[in-house]
Amino acid sequence: MATSPIELTGNGVHLEYPPTQLTDDQRRELSMLCATVVDPGEIGEASRDWWPLALHWSLAGQTPTRASAICRPKSTSEVVAVVQYANDSFIPVTAAGGRSGVAGASLPLFGGIALDMTEMHGVVAVDDDSLTVEVLAGTFGPDYETALNAHGLTGGHFPQSMDISTVGGWLACRGAGQYSTRYGKIEDIVSGLEVVLANGSVIHTGGAPKAAVGPDLTQLFVGSEGTFGIITKAWLRVHPVARAERRAAFGFGSFADGIDACRRIMRRGATPAVLRLYDGAETQRSHGGDGTECALLVLDEGEPLIIDATMSIVEEECVAAEPLDVGLVAAWMSHRNDTSGLQALTRKGFVIDTMEIAAPWSRLSTLFDDVRAALLTVPDARAATCHLSHSYLDGACLYFTFAATPPADRLESTYVAMWDVGTRATLAGGGNLSHHHGVGLNRSRFVAESLGGGLDVLRAVKSALDPNGVLNPGKLGMTTAIGSTVWP
Ligand SMILES: Cc1cc2nc3c(=O)[nH]c(=O)nc-3n(C[C@H](O)[C@H](O)[C@H](O)COP(=O)(O)OP(=O)(O)OC[C@H]3O[C@@H](n4cnc5c(N)ncnc54)[C@H](O)[C@@H]3O)c2cc1C
Repeated sequence: MATSPIELTGNGVHLEYPPTQLTDDQRRELSMLCATVVDPGEIGEASRDWWPLALHWSLAGQTPTRASAICRPKSTSEVVAVVQYANDSFIPVTAAGGRSGVAGASLPLFGGIALDMTEMHGVVAVDDDSLTVEVLAGTFGPDYETALNAHGLTGGHFPQSMDISTVGGWLACRGAGQYSTRYGKIEDIVSGLEVVLANGSVIHTGGAPKAAVGPDLTQLFVGSEGTFGIITKAWLRVHPVARAERRAAFGFGSFADGIDACRRIMRRGATPAVLRLYDGAETQRSHGGDGTECALLVLDEGEPLIIDATMSIVEEECVAAEPLDVGLVAAWMSHRNDTSGLQALTRKGFVIDTMEIAAPWSRLSTLFDDVRAALLTVPDARAATCHLSHSYLDGACLYFTFAATPPADRLESTYVAMWDVGTRATLAGGGNLSHHHGVGLNRSRFVAESLGGGLDVLRAVKSALDPNGVLNPGKLGMTTAIGSTVWP
């Protein structure tokens, strides 16, 4: 079971929603359906994730909210039993994998059951001919990759949170790995799902390379953040372990020039696994320099012939840039999953978070300027920096990092203000609400603005699939009988 990076020093609860408290009888009945934990310390852990604002609450001795019991199913039939019980009794049930989410998606906002999926783990079957594998939803990243490597295969999905996140969480949040420009996001990698619905029925989606049998039901559940059903199993596309790898690094005089080079590379059909462009401040912070140069790191892996062609295109499109020491890529590889600096700043009282969005190429340069400028208008804002990662034919992801140093009594309002101005500048400039961290609690208030009438469609699906509103209530901007998002 994963833990949050910052210790919890007390038993307080920060969000004042009326939580669903289970009776002793209900807890007893649940324990006959699957392993059930009611220990207050474990419940405190299971009621929080890596949402940066909530890490401050942990330091103040508070969880965001509090489940009433943790259920740890070991099989799909145990998930069915728990979900059916919750549905019949109007008890909220919130699925969790590694609880590495950074938006509060797995918080059991209205109490009830925290459904810890991490006891359902392991690769069940490998179809080497078809390059697909069957894997249980609670499998952590390293266990998944190690099991595949034993067959000469790789999943190609390497989020920064690889060690602390699960297959089910990747799917439920529509995640992206650091090599996504070659291997795709998780929605490109998934070929089918097993899902337990609120009424306890089990459905299987997908299973073929492509289909024309109505809309894609797999994609209905990918990104649904535990609000439409519980993912118990997935069929994912995999690849032979790469036979070769090549790296390169370039320096650009401006972020806009670097963006344009990335755009031209993608336009020519080259998809290097890693194509990461840092603005001046992030280049200086991570790779040195005087803060004016923007570093582009490139790495590709796979078949030598394809890599050589890809890297030739990269070199042609970066011919006007300054070649940088290729060792920068190795340096990034060695510290790419280290977040200890962010935790240290949190302990010092910094408000700090990251905001990842996607937009078409034609909008990216302006968005880069506008979003940073907007973030810096908030009183006590100290920094707003950015890098580009995850490129596509039609656009890319911009990943902003922002920090502020407000007085302690304005910590939460400063955090809210930075998200407000950053998100509004993004949406106004043609960007979307999230590229891969998802919505959770933090971004729920922007979903209506982001989706417009589309939110009514989501709500209609929700009420059809989960009429009692028991699955992760209060998330994704949806109102259910149990409650709606009222934070902040
Ligand atoms: C340091 C750090 C780096 C990160 N880097 C990345 C990154 O590179 N790429 C990226 O995409 N994300 C990243 N994240 C965000 C996070 O790791 C991802 O969103 C991840 O996919 C969440 O997986 P999890 O197993 O921890 O899910 P949790 O946090 O436990 O849950 C997240 C959501 O998924 C739902 N859920 C979980 N399991 C299931 C299931 N079986 N069925 C239905 N719903 C379920 C939960 O209800 C919740 O709504 C990072 C986070 C941290 C802390």
